[in-house]
Amino acid sequence: MFKFLSWLKSMFTYKCPRCRQDDLFIKPLDIKSPLAMNEKCTQCHQSFEPEPGYYYGAMFLSYIVGSFILLPIALIMVFYFNKGVEATMGWMILLGALMYLKLLRGSRSLWIHLMIKYEGKDAKPK
Ligand SMILES: [Zn+2]
Repeated sequence: MFKFLSWLKSMFTYKCPRCRQDDLFIKPLDIKSPLAMNEKCTQCHQSFEPEPGYYYGAMFLSYIVGSFILLPIALIMVFYFNKGVEATMGWMILLGALMYLKLLRGSRSLWIHLMIKYEGKDAKPK
């Protein structure tokens, strides 16, 4: 359980999945290039883009996670609060826009955390 919480923390704070020391994304966030990532980890030398098109799968994760967040809210608005479809759609577009950057980066972080195994803080450079 503790390992899973540590994994979640690493994923949500965008840390290197292999050693959890260095940042995945370049800080501070530049709104013109929100997906600007560091090339590799400075601690364990894990490449953050091991092959071209590596984050293609993250696009699907983003869609799935976004749907799992927005769909229940939309259904509750329509069937429990009896809001109109247009109003609900407007709220979903607003919520989608608000969580866009978090979802974009979060899905990439989730993807690399699913693919690369944690090897401890002292992971040897590759
Ligand atoms: Zn690392």
